[in-house]
Amino acid sequence: MAIIEISNLKKSYGKMDVLKNISFDVNKNDVVAVIGPSGSGKSTMLRSLVHLEKIDGGSICVSGNYLVRDGVYTKPQEIKQINAKMGMVFQHFNLFPHLTVKENLELAPKMAKKESLTEIQQRSSDLLKKIGLADRASAYPAKLSGGQKQRVAIARALMMNPDILLFDEPTSALDPELTGEVLQVMKELAQEHMTMIVVTHEMGFAKEVANRVIFMDNGEIVESGSPAELFTSPQNERTKAFLNRSLK
Ligand code: ADP
Ligand code: MG
Repeated sequence: MAIIEISNLKKSYGKMDVLKNISFDVNKNDVVAVIGPSGSGKSTMLRSLVHLEKIDGGSICVSGNYLVRDGVYTKPQEIKQINAKMGMVFQHFNLFPHLTVKENLELAPKMAKKESLTEIQQRSSDLLKKIGLADRASAYPAKLSGGQKQRVAIARALMMNPDILLFDEPTSALDPELTGEVLQVMKELAQEHMTMIVVTHEMGFAKEVANRVIFMDNGEIVESGSPAELFTSPQNERTKAFLNRSLK
């Protein structure tokens, strides 16, 4: 079953076409890695899925509900409901600095008012255990390492029980020795069959954890396939050149 169906996404900034007819589907339990050079439109594509960017044309359908259909957005109330199905993890964590770890996790579900306080607190405590930070529940983000912050950001995204998690270069702002702990949490989520789209420079992660890899360049999907296909026998010259540079 397709959780996200994307067809013919188009977006321009002035005269520059940043997304040119991007189309792909994400099925339940897929881990899709999106790779490609800086400026190829990866973030714009991901951000448009959660309505942080407005697209100029095309369609995005999430769990059967159109966020935007042939360039026309649905009603604001419905946009909110569709957004709630997706959790997003950013390169720079985007934690609320004035809230503790636990408060960061609980803020959105408390505002959504769909569950009792007890349920929310139970889940935040479970998720903090899961990411190995139960003992930091009362800490403020400034007291955490980058790797810890990103693990909290992942837990926060999971608090809303999303159908799919989106990651935009989750380890790019981290010192190399801290990327492993974040990739490990993501790998565990994949093993638990969380559906994910991961924009990443971590080719090792893409190879090992993703079941599909999409290579973007210059606002287009140039090539996509299984990690074995894409990494072992890329078909397109641009894919080959990019991989040659990245796998060195
Ligand atoms: P990537 O994530 O692959 O590095 P982006 O999606 O961030 O690429 O950017 C794609 C292109 O769009 C780049 O050329 C970038 O400079 C441009 N761009 C992104 N955001 C804006 C903006 N708000 N205004 C103008 N140009 C932008
Ligand atoms: Mg980017």
